[in-house]
Formats: sequence, structure tokens, C-alpha cells
Amino acid sequence: MLIKDKLKNKKPLISFEIFPPKKDYPVETIYNTIDALNDMKPDFISVTYGAGGSTKDTTVEIASFIKSKYNLSPLAHLTCLTSTKEEIEEILESLKASGVKNILALRGDHPQESTYKGPNHYKYAKDLIRQIRKRDEFCIGAACYPEKHLECKSLYKDLVHLKEKVDEGVDFLITQLFFDNEIFYRFKERADKLNINTPILAGILPVLNRNQIEKITSLTGCTLPKKFIRILEKYEHQPEALKEAGIAYAIEQIIDLLSWGIDGIHVYTMNRPKTTRRILESIRTIRGVLTNEKVS
Ligand code: FAD
Repeated sequence: MLIKDKLKNKKPLISFEIFPPKKDYPVETIYNTIDALNDMKPDFISVTYGAGGSTKDTTVEIASFIKSKYNLSPLAHLTCLTSTKEEIEEILESLKASGVKNILALRGDHPQESTYKGPNHYKYAKDLIRQIRKRDEFCIGAACYPEKHLECKSLYKDLVHLKEKVDEGVDFLITQLFFDNEIFYRFKERADKLNINTPILAGILPVLNRNQIEKITSLTGCTLPKKFIRILEKYEHQPEALKEAGIAYAIEQIIDLLSWGIDGIHVYTMNRPKTTRRILESIRTIRGVLTNEKVS
């Protein structure tokens, strides 16, 4: 099913993000994770696309597996910086052949070496979206950044670029992770003012250890609220306590977003179904009340 149709029929959606196994591991090593995640009845599972297209084939293979084994909607991420238009067309063909109809269209991050290789390569996600939209057979998602994209000088400019991207035919947006819901609510108000009316799913990451947070803040530039920093400092040397507090923090964030009326929650699972289950169990009744569905 197309995610845009799901969004018309039911809100909030609950979705999970996974990443393919590293290059030297067989693709099957992810199947147990998917099995455990599928038990939690997500509305869809998204599969990331490795930097520079490094997991090109496995992303398609895993998305196809999700579709054929569970009849669950997969969302295949696709980046464009390092692929030619012809290569992108080939990937679109293999997604179509596998019955994968939802694509998260992204630019990707600049690798170390120079990337833009000429007119046969795209510079921005909106160019990729234009190419996908021409085929008129995919539901298209895109990324958005409540605290602006790291490369952009201001949130206003980033929102103008977001509007251009959405106008190319985006059906829904997923946010980069954030830890302060108020920042997201302000972002949503500013997006509304620019007539960015696309449904937005909030990307939530349960933080489980200190290293993870250092990496994330340097990659995304996201703000850490004081109460979050207090948790990090207090339990820095007690990994189990930090993990518990990180999960509780994510649950609190999700409950607030659901009460606010968010279109969907997208959990960055980091391929950890046990953590994801703890979150989902904590919101089981709320999820049931909001969607009018019995969730086991
Ligand atoms: P764009 O929307 O193209 O924006 C990139 C930058 O260009 C922004 O600063 C924007 O303001 C600017 N810009 C846009 N248009 C213009 C213009 N006309 N003139 C000047 N500047 C402009 N990366 C992966 O490699 N694989 C993944 O699977 C993956 N999944 C992701 C999932 C989510 C939910 C998110 C939020 C990010 C994901 N990323 C992934 C990371 C993403 O590829 C990077 O954040 C990348 O740097 C930007 O991608 P984008 O699609 O947002 O780019």
C-alpha cells in the first residue's frame, strides 16, 4: 500500500527505520530483526541506502523481502549524489519489479572526494524527486530538518528549499531526529506559513549510549535540551542506566508528539527490536485509542 494512502486513512502512523547489514555480512542477518519488528505491527518499515550507494542492491533486496514475506509496506531510501540519471532509472526499474512503491528520495551526504560530476548527476533531492515523479507510479517521501540542514545558512532558506522540494511532488516528509519537541512545533508553524502542507512524520531516536550521541550531534547539529544533558552527565558511566533513561526520554517525546497530533512517528531503530519493543509497549494503549485499532 502507498504510504500516502495510509496517511489518508489512519493517523498517527508508526514506522521503523532499519539499515542493511555491513558489506561483509550476508543480507539474511537482518531478517530476524525484521521479523521481530514486524511483530509490532508497524505501518511501514524503511530501509536506508548506504552512503555513496554502497548498499544499493541490498536496500532493494531487503525492501522486496519486507513486501513479499510480510505484505508490509516497505519504504526504500534512495540517494542521488553519486548515481547517474541512468543508474537511478535502473534502480527505479528494480524497485518496480520488486513491488516496492514507496521511495524516500534523498540527496545523500557528500563523500570525501568531489561528487558533482556533471550534468548527468543531480545536485539536490528535488532533482531526484522530479525524475521519480515523471514515472507516476511511486509514492515519494523526503527529508526535512526542524533545526535546518547543517549546510544551509538559515532555517528560513532551508524551508524555502524544502518548499521547492515538496512542490516537485512529495507525498510526505520524515524529520531528522530531534530531542526538543518545541523546536519541532515551531518548525511546523513556519512550514505552515510557507504552505508546506505535506504530512510530517517525526523521526525519533532512542539514545542508548554516550558515543552515539556525540556522533549524532556532530553529524546533524541537533540541540540537546538541558534535561537531556543532565541524563547524559548523570549516567555517563552507568551504561544500563543511561540506556533506560534514553528509552524513557524517547517515550516521553513520543507521547507528547502524539498528544499534539503528529501525523506519524518514525523510530530510528538502529536495528534494535528489543529497544523498539519497549517503546511500543509503553504507548500501546495510546496508539490503540488514537487509531481505533487493537494493537497487540
Ligand atoms: P536536499 O533536500 O537536496 O538538501 C540538501 C541541502 O541543499 C540543504 O542544505 C538545502 O537547504 C540545500 N538546497 C536545496 N535546494 C537548494 C537550492 N536550490 N540552492 C541552494 N541550496 C539548496 N543519507 C543516506 O546516505 N542514506 C539514507 O538512507 C538516508 N536516510 C535519511 C533519512 C532521513 C529521514 C533523513 C532526515 C536523512 C537521511 N539521510 C540519508 C541523510 C541525507 O542524505 C542528508 O541529510 C543529506 O545531506 C541531505 O539530503 P536531503 O535529501 O535532505 O537534501
